Amino acid sequence: MTPDAIREGVVQGTGGVQRRAMAKAITLLESTRADHRAQADGLLTALLPHTGQAFRLGISGVPGVGKSTFIEALGLYLIGLGHRVAVLTIDPSSTVSGGSILGDKTRMEHLSVHEKAYIRPSPSSGTLGGVAEKTREAMLVCEAAGYDVVIVETVGVGQSEIAVAGMTDMFVLMQLPNAGDDLQAIKKGVMEIADLVVINKADLDKHAATRAEAQITSSLRLLSQHGNPEHAHHDDRLWHPKVVQISALHAQGVDGFWAAVSEFRRLQTANGRLASRRQQQALAWMWERIDAGLKQAFRQHPAVRALLPQLQQDVAAGRVAASTAARNLLAAQQDQAQAAIES
Ligand code: GDP
Repeated sequence: MTPDAIREGVVQGTGGVQRRAMAKAITLLESTRADHRAQADGLLTALLPHTGQAFRLGISGVPGVGKSTFIEALGLYLIGLGHRVAVLTIDPSSTVSGGSILGDKTRMEHLSVHEKAYIRPSPSSGTLGGVAEKTREAMLVCEAAGYDVVIVETVGVGQSEIAVAGMTDMFVLMQLPNAGDDLQAIKKGVMEIADLVVINKADLDKHAATRAEAQITSSLRLLSQHGNPEHAHHDDRLWHPKVVQISALHAQGVDGFWAAVSEFRRLQTANGRLASRRQQQALAWMWERIDAGLKQAFRQHPAVRALLPQLQQDVAAGRVAASTAARNLLAAQQDQAQAAIES
């Protein structure tokens, strides 16, 4: 399929035709071949005018908290309301071992076969930045295909949560009802970026869930007072992070959850923060990718490769200061680039 045919299939196709075009698009975007990358960039540019209408929802939580059970219940609920739902995943274990925390079991049994849902597992290897890039691009493909709620799921390991919060409109943290989990999230700095905290498995212990709700609510209030003046509690044009209880297994509380998400979306659209968050995300993303690209090019540079093994040993052994080694390497790369220009 040519990039043009792929674009047409994604934007105008229906049913299996559209699905095949989406799969082709995402495969092209995930390819590491240079000629594919050029085609993929062309495709992205062509798809971009058809994106941006969806609501982008990030969901995270430790393994076993009930993410897939919840996303299944939420997805089916949203389809019932007339939405089309895409679910993408960033599996941080795939970036380390090529393995998978999220992918091995059969997940979202009913949602995964629903014609109004599109579920795509995490790209299977690469750096976290690389995997996040592919997921971001897959998100744009889903939006261009008319999926109007895009859920990006990850597990609780700090970095991947920051990555998901950095590509979504709203970041939701799932917690278990037992006390103590919330402290963990605070320690990792994840509670600070949560727009909404969901306490799942409320059916198991209603008292514990209510206690956790009170605890997390007061933690969020403290964080917003100390951390983020944007969340100042006196201004009701602004969103204040909330806590809701649910039971994903019994699909209870899903409507309350969606009401909170809709309220968030309404407020953030009215006060302009939805648009500014996306702008900041796009620019931060551009710079993140520039940093990653420069670093890769630097490591592959012949002058750097010639010097690096020895300098690494020298730094490790304490013979050369780390900052001196860095300056020498940067200078070696620049000298050679300069020599190339002059010759
Ligand atoms: P994930 O690893 O976060 O995706 O968690 P899963 O969705 O796979 O759920 C882990 C286990 O918790 C499964 O056995 C679910 O059936 C169970 N579970 C999920 N949500 C609830 C809930 O609301 N109540 C109860 N009692 N169990 C739940």
